Amino acid sequence: MIIRDKLYIDGQWIAAQGQETLPVVNPATEEVIATVPAGSEQDVADAVCAARAAFAGWAVTPVAKRAAWLKKLAEGLQARAEELAATITAELGMPLKFSQSIQTALPVANMEVYAGMTDCFQEERIGHSLVVREPVGVVACITPWNYPLLQIVLKVAPALLAGCTVVLKPSEVTPLDAFLLADVVAEAGLPAGVFNLVSGSGEEAGESLARHPEVDMVSFTGSTRAGRRVSELAAATVKRVALELGGKSAALVLDDADLAPAIRSTLNSCFINSGQTCDAMTRLLVPEALYEQAVALAVDGAATFTVGDPMGGEAKLGPLVSARQQQRVRDYIRKGIEEGAQLLCGGVGQPAGLKRGYYVQPTVFGRVTPEMTIAREEIFGPVLSILSYRDEDEAVRIANDTDYGLAAAVWSADEQRALTVARRLRAGQVEVNGGPNNLLAPFGGYKQSGNGREMGRYGLEEFLEVKAIQLPKE
Ligand code: NDP
Repeated sequence: MIIRDKLYIDGQWIAAQGQETLPVVNPATEEVIATVPAGSEQDVADAVCAARAAFAGWAVTPVAKRAAWLKKLAEGLQARAEELAATITAELGMPLKFSQSIQTALPVANMEVYAGMTDCFQEERIGHSLVVREPVGVVACITPWNYPLLQIVLKVAPALLAGCTVVLKPSEVTPLDAFLLADVVAEAGLPAGVFNLVSGSGEEAGESLARHPEVDMVSFTGSTRAGRRVSELAAATVKRVALELGGKSAALVLDDADLAPAIRSTLNSCFINSGQTCDAMTRLLVPEALYEQAVALAVDGAATFTVGDPMGGEAKLGPLVSARQQQRVRDYIRKGIEEGAQLLCGGVGQPAGLKRGYYVQPTVFGRVTPEMTIAREEIFGPVLSILSYRDEDEAVRIANDTDYGLAAAVWSADEQRALTVARRLRAGQVEVNGGPNNLLAPFGGYKQSGNGREMGRYGLEEFLEVKAIQLPKE
């Protein structure tokens, strides 16, 4: 049992003001494995006060020095890579071998990207004006549980590089990796107040941050529901708010595409992390003429996504993060059946041989129509919906007929054709023929998937103000 009973505020581990604690549950064993403090409004106020006090000094620290601190943090995380991966597997349930790469190596790589990005602060002349970039101020980072350390690093690293100071509130469901990051910060000796950690609930710690007048910006990743609430609270003091929210992303397979890799890649995207991925391709759009072939490939492919104990063995999928998520996803599967979609594989039952743990079977629905709930709402579980279309225009219309706009994919034998379709899709990132993610390219959503951009230079710019200094005209 891990007991984390202190918060990291102003460069020190200090007892939380409130007495309440929050349990952390291992979703594979259903056992409580740790407790963390439930940070109160007063804890948030103390952390914000420390961040405010540290801001003046950190903002004028040369960029190269700030980048050197990030390098140290990257090294500190790397040194604890094994512990981080095991911790994230224990709190989230992703199989260990994937936690080692996706949940640990990837955040470290992103931290390194920012440690190397010192050339984004160049001043610009526009006529008689000098345009300079400055840090936005004190930033509240509110993060979710599905890629916990990655989501934290994608906020904290660019914010610190920009010269902002931060208060981090991680998800109460997976807070332990954030405590390890704070250990790394403490060991590195980052100046007091530059990075602060307050664990706690969204309702108390999260809302206190969104409301606090000394917070200049909230960088939020999570559900559209909570993002809306954060925006409302932040509006009272006109904070900058960057939102990274949910999705209902479509993979469009055009009629000339090679089906096998398209279906394989869509299943991977949809099922990885047991479907708890914001940019998962959860709608597979195929031409009617290829529908039966696509279904056969999808069903065969789904069978290879073995489900089991995330700590050992060869399982590709672990449990969902919580009993609540498991229930939610099962309710969506029931809804799909009730509304007349064809259950091709998977279903509501516990996967065979697993008595404990919040598991859900990888599930594929066929003959899904665009108005069905499972085609419209974010399920956040391993559930793929296959829809058929008559022509390219209809495919684009279905793909865009969603409140979300986070990601999409296009598959075609003709890359130019795929690119033309990609340009018609209202989403923040579109993969063409399986084009991989790029750590330097922007990531973010259109419509109700959010309004911010993370990663690379665009992710850094979120945390910068732009100032025009008007010089006398010659
Ligand atoms: P939530 O919105 O429930 O939680 C996200 C964070 O917000 C948590 O730290 C949570 O606190 C906090 N929070 C909850 N309510 C409030 C509130 N009223 N005020 C302030 N903060 C609050 O999302 P989940 O953690 O369930 O994450 C899943 C969602 O996140 C999915 O919809 C997914 O698509 C989206 N997501 C988007 C990504 C993107 O980049 N676009 C990436 C990853 C996820 P706590 O949980 O501690 O109570």
